[in-house]
Amino acid sequence: MRKLTRRQFLQVSAAVSSSLLLPGAVQASDGEKLALHKKIGETATICPYCSCGCGLVIATDEKGHVVNVEGDPENPINRGALCPKAISVRQLSNSPLRLAKVMYRAPGATQWEAKSWEWALEQIARRAQETRDASFVRTVKVGDKDVPVNRTEGVAFIGGAANNNEDCYLATKLMRALGLVYVEHQARL
Ligand code: SF4
Repeated sequence: MRKLTRRQFLQVSAAVSSSLLLPGAVQASDGEKLALHKKIGETATICPYCSCGCGLVIATDEKGHVVNVEGDPENPINRGALCPKAISVRQLSNSPLRLAKVMYRAPGATQWEAKSWEWALEQIARRAQETRDASFVRTVKVGDKDVPVNRTEGVAFIGGAANNNEDCYLATKLMRALGLVYVEHQARL
Protein backbone atom coordinates (compact mmCIF):
# COMPACT_ATOMS: atom_id res chain seq x y z
CA MET A 1 0.00 0.00 0.00
CA ARG A 2 1.44 3.38 -0.91
CA LYS A 3 1.53 6.35 1.46
CA LEU A 4 -1.11 9.06 1.26
CA THR A 5 0.04 12.53 0.26
CA ARG A 6 -1.38 15.42 2.25
CA ARG A 7 -3.73 16.22 -0.61
CA GLN A 8 -4.96 12.63 -0.82
CA PHE A 9 -5.42 12.54 2.94
CA LEU A 10 -7.72 15.57 2.70
CA GLN A 11 -9.64 13.91 -0.14
CA VAL A 12 -10.08 10.74 1.92
CA SER A 13 -11.17 12.75 4.96
CA ALA A 14 -13.73 14.61 2.87
CA ALA A 15 -15.04 11.35 1.44
CA VAL A 16 -15.41 9.85 4.90
CA SER A 17 -17.22 12.86 6.31
CA SER A 18 -19.65 13.00 3.40
CA SER A 19 -20.36 9.24 3.62
CA LEU A 20 -19.37 8.61 0.01
CA LEU A 21 -17.01 5.86 1.05
CA LEU A 22 -17.04 2.32 -0.26
CA PRO A 23 -16.22 -0.22 2.48
CA GLY A 24 -12.46 -0.73 2.80
CA ALA A 25 -11.27 1.61 0.00
CA VAL A 26 -11.60 5.04 -1.54
CA GLN A 27 -10.72 6.28 -5.01
CA ALA A 28 -7.99 8.92 -5.28
CA SER A 29 -8.22 11.67 -7.94
CA ASP A 30 -5.76 9.71 -10.14
CA GLY A 31 -8.11 6.70 -10.08
CA GLU A 32 -6.02 4.56 -7.73
CA LYS A 33 -7.84 2.71 -4.95
CA LEU A 34 -6.42 3.50 -1.53
CA ALA A 35 -6.91 1.00 1.28
CA LEU A 36 -8.46 2.65 4.33
CA HIS A 37 -7.73 -0.04 6.83
CA LYS A 38 -5.57 -3.10 7.12
CA LYS A 39 -5.52 -6.20 9.27
CA ILE A 40 -4.09 -5.50 12.69
CA GLY A 41 -3.41 -8.13 15.33
CA GLU A 42 -3.19 -7.21 19.00
CA THR A 43 -1.11 -9.04 21.59
CA ALA A 44 -0.87 -8.38 25.32
CA THR A 45 2.67 -8.39 26.62
CA ILE A 46 4.96 -6.79 29.22
CA CYS A 47 7.23 -3.75 28.86
CA PRO A 48 10.87 -4.94 28.95
CA TYR A 49 12.47 -1.73 30.16
CA CYS A 50 12.22 -1.42 33.93
CA SER A 51 11.20 -3.50 36.90
CA CYS A 52 7.65 -2.11 37.03
CA GLY A 53 6.62 -4.66 34.39
CA CYS A 54 3.75 -2.57 32.93
CA GLY A 55 1.31 -4.33 30.61
CA LEU A 56 1.31 -3.38 26.91
CA VAL A 57 -1.01 -4.04 24.00
CA ILE A 58 1.12 -4.35 20.87
CA ALA A 59 -0.56 -3.98 17.47
CA THR A 60 1.13 -5.60 14.46
CA ASP A 61 0.33 -5.53 10.76
CA GLU A 62 0.15 -8.49 8.36
CA LYS A 63 3.95 -8.57 8.08
CA GLY A 64 4.45 -8.71 11.84
CA HIS A 65 5.69 -5.10 12.06
CA VAL A 66 4.76 -3.29 15.24
CA VAL A 67 2.48 -0.39 14.30
CA ASN A 68 1.19 0.74 17.68
CA VAL A 69 1.93 0.38 21.40
CA GLU A 70 -0.57 1.19 24.14
CA GLY A 71 -0.93 0.57 27.86
CA ASP A 72 -3.03 -2.49 28.68
CA PRO A 73 -6.11 -1.25 30.58
CA GLU A 74 -6.69 -4.76 31.94
CA ASN A 75 -3.22 -5.09 33.45
CA PRO A 76 -3.46 -4.54 37.24
CA ILE A 77 0.03 -3.00 37.42
CA ASN A 78 -0.43 0.01 35.14
CA ARG A 79 -4.18 -0.09 34.28
CA GLY A 80 -3.58 1.35 30.83
CA ALA A 81 -1.02 4.01 31.82
CA LEU A 82 2.50 4.01 30.34
CA CYS A 83 5.62 6.11 30.74
CA PRO A 84 7.08 7.66 27.54
CA LYS A 85 9.84 5.08 27.39
CA ALA A 86 7.42 2.26 26.61
CA ILE A 87 6.24 4.00 23.44
CA SER A 88 9.67 3.29 21.93
CA VAL A 89 9.22 -0.47 22.45
CA ARG A 90 8.36 -0.71 18.74
CA GLN A 91 11.99 0.12 17.97
CA LEU A 92 13.08 -3.16 19.56
CA SER A 93 11.21 -4.98 16.83
CA ASN A 94 11.36 -2.58 13.89
CA SER A 95 14.89 -1.17 14.18
CA PRO A 96 17.20 -2.00 11.25
CA LEU A 97 19.97 -2.32 13.87
CA ARG A 98 18.22 -5.25 15.53
CA LEU A 99 20.30 -8.44 15.54
CA ALA A 100 18.49 -11.20 13.67
CA LYS A 101 21.04 -13.96 14.29
CA VAL A 102 23.29 -15.26 17.02
CA MET A 103 26.66 -13.47 17.21
CA TYR A 104 29.56 -15.20 18.94
CA ARG A 105 33.00 -13.99 19.92
CA ALA A 106 35.36 -16.74 20.98
CA PRO A 107 37.56 -16.20 24.07
CA GLY A 108 40.48 -13.95 23.10
CA ALA A 109 39.09 -13.26 19.61
CA THR A 110 38.54 -9.75 18.31
CA GLN A 111 35.92 -10.59 15.67
CA TRP A 112 32.28 -11.66 16.04
CA GLU A 113 31.00 -14.61 14.01
CA ALA A 114 27.41 -15.36 12.97
CA LYS A 115 26.18 -18.71 14.35
CA SER A 116 22.97 -20.74 14.14
CA TRP A 117 20.53 -21.10 17.03
CA GLU A 118 21.18 -24.88 17.02
CA TRP A 119 24.87 -24.23 17.61
CA ALA A 120 24.17 -21.68 20.34
CA LEU A 121 21.69 -23.84 22.24
CA GLU A 122 24.02 -26.83 22.10
CA GLN A 123 26.88 -24.66 23.43
CA ILE A 124 24.77 -23.26 26.25
CA ALA A 125 23.57 -26.71 27.33
CA ARG A 126 27.06 -28.24 27.12
CA ARG A 127 28.79 -25.43 29.00
CA ALA A 128 26.09 -25.29 31.68
CA GLN A 129 26.46 -29.02 32.26
CA GLU A 130 30.27 -28.92 32.30
CA THR A 131 30.31 -26.04 34.81
CA ARG A 132 27.65 -27.66 36.97
CA ASP A 133 29.44 -31.00 37.02
CA ALA A 134 32.78 -29.39 37.86
CA SER A 135 31.36 -27.27 40.69
CA PHE A 136 28.72 -29.59 42.13
CA VAL A 137 28.78 -30.01 45.90
CA ARG A 138 27.00 -33.07 47.25
CA THR A 139 27.53 -32.63 50.99
CA VAL A 140 28.94 -30.14 53.49
CA LYS A 141 30.36 -30.90 56.90
CA VAL A 142 28.23 -29.79 59.81
CA GLY A 143 30.04 -30.83 62.97
CA ASP A 144 31.06 -34.40 62.33
CA LYS A 145 28.21 -35.09 59.92
CA ASP A 146 28.11 -34.93 56.11
CA VAL A 147 24.87 -33.08 55.32
CA PRO A 148 23.56 -33.44 51.75
CA VAL A 149 23.16 -30.09 49.89
CA ASN A 150 23.34 -31.08 46.19
CA ARG A 151 24.11 -27.61 44.89
CA THR A 152 26.37 -25.68 42.54
CA GLU A 153 27.86 -22.29 43.24
CA GLY A 154 29.52 -22.22 39.81
CA VAL A 155 26.42 -21.15 37.85
CA ALA A 156 24.12 -18.17 38.47
CA PHE A 157 20.82 -17.11 36.92
CA ILE A 158 19.48 -13.59 36.51
CA GLY A 159 15.91 -12.76 35.52
CA GLY A 160 14.56 -9.51 34.10
CA ALA A 161 11.60 -7.19 34.32
CA ALA A 162 10.08 -8.65 31.17
CA ASN A 163 9.66 -12.08 32.76
CA ASN A 164 6.05 -12.73 33.73
CA ASN A 165 4.88 -15.01 36.56
CA GLU A 166 4.88 -18.08 34.33
CA ASP A 167 8.40 -17.38 33.00
CA CYS A 168 9.65 -16.91 36.56
CA TYR A 169 7.97 -20.09 37.78
CA LEU A 170 9.54 -22.20 35.02
CA ALA A 171 12.97 -20.57 35.32
CA THR A 172 13.06 -20.98 39.10
CA LYS A 173 11.93 -24.60 38.84
CA LEU A 174 14.67 -25.39 36.29
CA MET A 175 17.43 -23.50 38.12
CA ARG A 176 16.62 -25.06 41.51
CA ALA A 177 16.48 -28.49 39.85
CA LEU A 178 19.97 -27.87 38.49
CA GLY A 179 21.11 -27.05 42.04
CA LEU A 180 21.66 -23.29 41.63
CA VAL A 181 21.97 -21.20 44.75
CA TYR A 182 22.39 -17.81 43.09
CA VAL A 183 19.02 -16.99 41.48
CA GLU A 184 18.56 -13.24 41.21
CA HIS A 185 16.54 -10.49 39.55
CA GLN A 186 17.81 -7.47 37.66
CA ALA A 187 15.83 -5.02 39.81
CA ARG A 188 17.77 -6.02 42.95
CA LEU A 189 21.18 -5.22 41.48
S1 SF4 B 1 6.14 1.53 30.86
FE1 SF4 B 1 7.77 2.69 31.85
S2 SF4 B 1 7.40 2.34 34.06
FE2 SF4 B 1 6.31 0.73 32.94
S3 SF4 B 1 7.74 -1.02 32.82
FE3 SF4 B 1 7.99 0.21 30.94
S4 SF4 B 1 9.67 1.58 31.40
FE4 SF4 B 1 8.94 0.81 33.34
